[in-house]
Amino acid sequence: MSEKKLSRRDFLRGALAGSAAVALTSVTGLPAFAEEGIYKPGTYSATADGIGKVTVTATFDANSILSVELDVSEETPSIGQAAKDELIAQAMAAQGPDGIDGVSGATITSTAVKTALKNCIAQAKGEAVDSGSVKPMVESSAAFILKDITADDVNASAVELEPITNFAKEVDVDVVVAGAGASGVIAAVRAAELGAKVAVLQKEAVAVSQGNCSSAIIKSGSTEGGLKKWLTFATAVNCWRNNRRLLEAYIDRSEEALRFVCEKSGITEKTEWKNKYGVTKYQDTSAVYTGVWHDGTQSYDFGDEKVEVFAPWFGPKPGNYGSLVSGILKDAQEEYGDNLQVFFSTPIVQLVKDAEGTIIGCVGKDLDGNYIKFNAKSVILATGAYENNATTRRSSTAPATATSSPSRPAAAWSPWPTAASCTTLTRASCGTSRPTSSST
Ligand SMILES: Cc1cc2nc3c(=O)[nH]c(=O)nc-3n(C[C@H](O)[C@H](O)[C@H](O)COP(=O)(O)OP(=O)(O)OC[C@H]3O[C@@H](n4cnc5c(N)ncnc54)[C@H](O)[C@@H]3O)c2cc1C
Repeated sequence: MSEKKLSRRDFLRGALAGSAAVALTSVTGLPAFAEEGIYKPGTYSATADGIGKVTVTATFDANSILSVELDVSEETPSIGQAAKDELIAQAMAAQGPDGIDGVSGATITSTAVKTALKNCIAQAKGEAVDSGSVKPMVESSAAFILKDITADDVNASAVELEPITNFAKEVDVDVVVAGAGASGVIAAVRAAELGAKVAVLQKEAVAVSQGNCSSAIIKSGSTEGGLKKWLTFATAVNCWRNNRRLLEAYIDRSEEALRFVCEKSGITEKTEWKNKYGVTKYQDTSAVYTGVWHDGTQSYDFGDEKVEVFAPWFGPKPGNYGSLVSGILKDAQEEYGDNLQVFFSTPIVQLVKDAEGTIIGCVGKDLDGNYIKFNAKSVILATGAYENNATTRRSSTAPATATSSPSRPAAAWSPWPTAASCTTLTRASCGTSRPTSSST
């Protein structure tokens, strides 16, 4: 029953929490294995999600790993790619994933190498292959298709329904990102970093996003059981109305996203007043949830499990998260030139589909009313609007009148649950405190 303060001095350096060094070589002491060998000799390959895809190719004889090769070409050059030789050395020395301590600053790449190496070992042992612990962030966009769109929604949006056929110009790119906000800027910059030719369509004359507080789950500092408990805790705090798959995506990817923002904007543990965009990390509500967690009227027992949450606040106002993404976008425009073109004051008004209905681009409308056609392999819609649109709220959260537990009373809609609208749940109470949220 303890409550501990998080020491996250090493967060931005990405130090891995110490991992148990259980080398697979120890099993050579077992005669049965020694006679027949542990592995089926050969070369096996597996891929896991790091920042991009990380592929491990390992060659085995009957009892050991003879060589490990890594393809980390999709990782950040100065971080994941730079860690390659050290990770190979650790994998060879440990003869397995459990003894890989990882490389400081390259936590995500290190974790991907461990996952993929575990997979190679499973193949070499003839075991069922673990497809990896990192799930795709969104398995199917169908899960997020809006329900019950109204005429008012369409009228209030930038969408144009009449087919558009007259274009002032056409732009060919790999990726179009619509919306230069919290998610759009990061998606665009990362795509450019990976070598894609990117166009960003932004409705406003500048990049815009709101918010000061961010948070991320630090998986390497959390236990598996703790993450499960956190999922239940966060669901309960939100009166069982949140989208579970989005919360799972948050658990899986928020560390990666927030680290990306901090690294790009030069916000470090030591950032003094102020960073290059006039913003600083002016407050911190990071925590380790373990034992009984209390906050106002809320409490939850994490037992011996733990969850590490990194929660810096960027600002103070008028500086905010929008200032960060705006600066990150400007820097990236300078770095990637024509490979990252930003079309300000140009809202997306229509998607372009081929005969099979596959999206092959979109149409933007500039300030003079001219239509620009963007031909692209991928279109990322990041136009936000969840909070201010009744349909997106309705579509993404359970109805306020639904009950998922006999003990849970129906709650009137409110952005954050209040003590009055939601009483004690299975193991937590909904209080007046704002639940953990992420700007990323
Ligand atoms: C006042 C306020 C305070 C908030 N505080 C916090 C906080 O402290 N912490 C937190 O985690 N969250 C906070 N939020 C929520 C947070 O801002 C959002 O969850 C987050 O910005 C969503 O990111 P997004 O990329 O989906 O959308 P946004 O960041 O809103 O970006 C969407 C972008 O798309 C652009 N756009 C819209 N339509 C079009 C179009 N047709 N074509 C092209 N571009 C378009 C918009 O101009 C905008 O720049 C706050 C929200 C508000 C309103």
